[in-house]
Amino acid sequence: MSKPYASLKSILAEFLDLNRTLVSDDMDKTLSIIGSYMPDAANYTVENYAPLTDVWTWKVPERYVVHEAYLEAEDGARIVDFKDNPLHIISYSLPIDQVLTWEELEPHLRYSVKRLDAIPWEFKYYDRSWGFCLPKNLFDQLPRDKKYHAVIRSEFLADPESGLRVGVGLIHPEGGPNPEAGEMIIQAHACHPAQANDDGSGVVSAIDLARRLVEKPLPAGSMSIRFWFGPETIGTIAWLAHHEDIIPHLRGGIFLDSTGNRNSLALQRSRQDNHLLDRIARYVLAKHGKEFREGEFAQVAANDERVINGPGVNVPAIAITRFSYDEYHTSDDNLDVVHDDLMTEAAEVAEETVRTYASNYIPRRTFRGPLFLSGNGLWVDWRENWDLNRAIEKIMMRFEGMHSIFDIADEVGLDYWTVRGYVERFRARGFVLPLPILSEAGNS
Ligand SMILES: [Zn+2]
Repeated sequence: MSKPYASLKSILAEFLDLNRTLVSDDMDKTLSIIGSYMPDAANYTVENYAPLTDVWTWKVPERYVVHEAYLEAEDGARIVDFKDNPLHIISYSLPIDQVLTWEELEPHLRYSVKRLDAIPWEFKYYDRSWGFCLPKNLFDQLPRDKKYHAVIRSEFLADPESGLRVGVGLIHPEGGPNPEAGEMIIQAHACHPAQANDDGSGVVSAIDLARRLVEKPLPAGSMSIRFWFGPETIGTIAWLAHHEDIIPHLRGGIFLDSTGNRNSLALQRSRQDNHLLDRIARYVLAKHGKEFREGEFAQVAANDERVINGPGVNVPAIAITRFSYDEYHTSDDNLDVVHDDLMTEAAEVAEETVRTYASNYIPRRTFRGPLFLSGNGLWVDWRENWDLNRAIEKIMMRFEGMHSIFDIADEVGLDYWTVRGYVERFRARGFVLPLPILSEAGNS
């Protein structure tokens, strides 16, 4: 049974402090917490990919285990301790237990020059070394003429069951899946240790969206909506490499990133740049009525859409994000940065984008000549809906199997749902056939 929750922030708080690095026990915990809040109808499951196996041109990394890690002064005083904050070591640091001079230690210390009291988040997943992260103000105080004891007791596990994990759910429209219509995919990555907005906020906005799509299902015949949570980049690569059969069914994707900080929403466009999905998201944001920003593919907040919309996959994928923000990739990215109303608002915009894109189809005429409207109960009384009455001819002229309902609505200047409701009346009487939005997957 999916758990009730007080607020999106309370879900985020449940996994915030975990050391959610790529492949780790805390990542598994996070994926199971996410699963506990996903609606039952999503049939959420977690998959495991064995370490060191090939996924396309990449390799699945080993599971990273940290038993303890600290940096001490010569006299034994602790300077930083992994126990206090997992950001104190570079993620995937190699083990070390050594007494070092300042000159030897310094190349292994990282700090942020922008946020002097914050611990920066650093990672070296593949080209590995070791290192500690600390506030610049602490770094400045360390005596240069003393020795230091660096201890990182870390381990890299490679047994098949210690693999990279991703969590996936699938929500169908009213009446069950329509394989012809295909799927949309909603993604958020869960892999940044002890950080809230990047991308715990996207994770909880996605959970909210999933619940909305179960509470009020998409109209019958719509696309199914897949939800994906896991580690950034390698997680999506590993999942797709194991599910190449799904790629042709994917009609579009939305990445939810940094949805909780105080900044306007931004639409990051797909690689196609002027795809139906881009235009629908822009329409939804404009209708939402608040100021919003727009940017090119991967130029606002580059995330897993670089994989989903990348070479050889090419599923048009947008991002809905409030990026950028000053606390990014530091210990200051905490619960104070994220706000419930903003994470909910991002979920609402994503919801309306999904509802429009997933329910959109291309109506193709089955009749000849001007349709006998009043004889078939399709005439719209101008006294009831003047605008729709004026647009009837124009709408009917566009049933040639070239224009989607969204495009027709856009061309005649009417609301999408008004036009869809009217087209549905033609469909119910067999006067139009619904053609699906075509897949562009794998074309470049
Ligand atoms: Zn990030």
